[in-house]
Amino acid sequence: MNRSKLTGFAKQLIHHSGSINLVKKINPKPNVLRMLCYHSVADQPDYCPLSIAVKPELFDLQMQFLAENYSVLSIDDAIESVKNKSVPERAVVITFDDGFKDNYENALPIIKKYGLTATFYITSNPIKQSSSFWVSWMQIIIANADPEKFELLGKQFSVPDQVIKAGKNNRQELTSYLTIKINQASLDKKKILFEQIAEILQVAPTDKNSITAEIMMDEEDVKKMTEQGMTIGSHTVNHPILTSLNEKQILTELVQSKNQLEEITGQTVKHFAHPNGPGGIINYSELTANLIEQVGYDSSCTSIRGMISEQSNCYLLPRLDINDYQDEASFAFKLEEHYFSSLLLN
Ligand SMILES: [Zn+2]
Repeated sequence: MNRSKLTGFAKQLIHHSGSINLVKKINPKPNVLRMLCYHSVADQPDYCPLSIAVKPELFDLQMQFLAENYSVLSIDDAIESVKNKSVPERAVVITFDDGFKDNYENALPIIKKYGLTATFYITSNPIKQSSSFWVSWMQIIIANADPEKFELLGKQFSVPDQVIKAGKNNRQELTSYLTIKINQASLDKKKILFEQIAEILQVAPTDKNSITAEIMMDEEDVKKMTEQGMTIGSHTVNHPILTSLNEKQILTELVQSKNQLEEITGQTVKHFAHPNGPGGIINYSELTANLIEQVGYDSSCTSIRGMISEQSNCYLLPRLDINDYQDEASFAFKLEEHYFSSLLLN
C-alpha cells in the first residue's frame, strides 16, 4: 500500500472505529496538547481566503466529534497543564484568530451547543471600529474589483505578468501576492499603499470603514463572548508581522491591544497570538517571545505547526490549522497525525 492510500485508510479507520485507543496502545507516547487554529466559520466569505474558512455545517460536525472524543480545555487550564507537566489525555484547545463577526454569529452558538469553550485572539483596533482590518479590506477589494484594472495595478506595484493574468481567474493569487508585499510595511506606509490601490481600482477608500463594521465583531460582541464563558486573547492592535517592527513598536502592539481588550471585557487578557500572513513568513523571534512574557502574558502561539508537548516553550506554541478542505475523516486524522507519523517512521 502506498503512503497516500495508507493515509486514506488510516483516516477512515480512525474516524469510523474510534481506534485512537488502539493507536495509543501500539505506540504509547506522553500526552500532547492540540491547539486548533480557526479563522472564519462561514459559507463562501469574500473577506478572507477560502483556505482559512470552515463552513458552519462542517464546524458543527467537528465540534460534535471533539465533544464526544476529546477533552476540550480552556486555554488557562491548558497552559497550566503544560507548565505543570500534567497534560490530560486527548487534550484540545479551540482558538480563533482575527475577530471576524462570523465567529460570534456562526461559531459561538455551535461551541455552546456542545458545551465547549474557545479562545478568540482579537485584533483590537478593528473591533473598536477605529481602523480597518486591512487584510480583509485587501481581500474584498480584489474580490470585487473590475479585473480590467488589474494590469494597471500590476505596473504600479511591480506584480509579475503571470500573477496579473492568473488574477483574472484566480483572484486569491493576486490578493496573496499583494498581501505579502504590504505585510512588512509600516502602518503609515500601508495607509498610503491602500489609497493608491483604491485609486487605481477606482474604489472609494471610505468603504474601508463600512467593510470593517460588517465583517468584524464590535465591542458589544466581544463583551458578550466573555459573558458566555469564552476567553479573549490579543492578536495585536493592527495585525502587523511583529518581526518587521522595532522593539518599541512591538511593545506598543502588545500593551495597547491588551489594555483595549481588558477595557472591553473587564477581564485580564493573558494570551497572545502572533499575526501571520501568506508566504510562510517567520512571524516570531526570541525577542517577540521575551517581550510578550515581559508585558505579562502567560502564553503566545506562532506560525509553527504541530503539537504542544509538556516540554514546549509557552511563548512559542505551535498550532494545527483547521480548514474546509478537511472532511470529517481528515479532521479526525489530523488530531492524531503525530501518532501515525511516528508509526510510519518507526
Ligand atoms: Zn491574523
